[in-house]
Amino acid sequence: MTTRMPALFAGHGSPLNAIEENRFSRGWEEVGRRLPKPRAILAVSAHWYTHGLLTNDEAHPKQVYDMYGFPQALYDLAYPVPGDPALAHELVERLDGEACVDNSWGIDHGTWSVLHRMFPEADVPVVQLSVDGDREPAAHLELGQRLAFLRDEGVMVFGSGNVVHNLGMVDWSSDNGAEWNKHFDAGVRAAIERRDLDLVADWGRLAGAELAVPTPEHFLPLLFVLGATSGDDAMETFSDGYTLGSMAMTGYLFGRARA
Ligand code: ZN
Repeated sequence: MTTRMPALFAGHGSPLNAIEENRFSRGWEEVGRRLPKPRAILAVSAHWYTHGLLTNDEAHPKQVYDMYGFPQALYDLAYPVPGDPALAHELVERLDGEACVDNSWGIDHGTWSVLHRMFPEADVPVVQLSVDGDREPAAHLELGQRLAFLRDEGVMVFGSGNVVHNLGMVDWSSDNGAEWNKHFDAGVRAAIERRDLDLVADWGRLAGAELAVPTPEHFLPLLFVLGATSGDDAMETFSDGYTLGSMAMTGYLFGRARA
């Protein structure tokens, strides 16, 4: 009997969280120690935002350093996870050919900056599925639903983005969030708690949405993860807090982890 694997959404924030010891990176480490070990991770990262749905099927996917102007230590961080070609092919098959294999990308910082804290051994295979910018928001929920069965096959569903992410409004002096940031984050949390996923997918109706989600790519991975959950899943906010004024670092865990 396999345990149903969790579905998890992480707010990744600045790439520096990959190398800095702070409340966010500690939170990722702490939840990582409580997670069951999956046979593989299906990762949806804000930083693979594409036309059409793509996945990677290499046995050894390349690590993508898709951030610029950061300290060298970040580019020296190696997280050489294996891929899982069989899982990638299963995805393509289950999605009736809607997803195409594309190995021009790889494992990007949305994925590795967080997973290297949660699974530091780099021994859990990772397959990325892109965020298809051509799909309506509700279709990302539906994609998660269609792939939720993988959780019963030992695969952890992982999304990496930010509930609130506005680079144009960054306040470098702030280690907190603006009022509109907190307001929107709380609205999303309340909707998730009462499982009003349609409202999460229609986030423009929530107060603060215009500033909180100026572009959808960091928000959509949350919808994918929510789609892969059910009302039976325990829900836990394993990480929260705000930074740079315009960033919410909220992380949600659905399903079972050790207490
Ligand atoms: Zn990002």
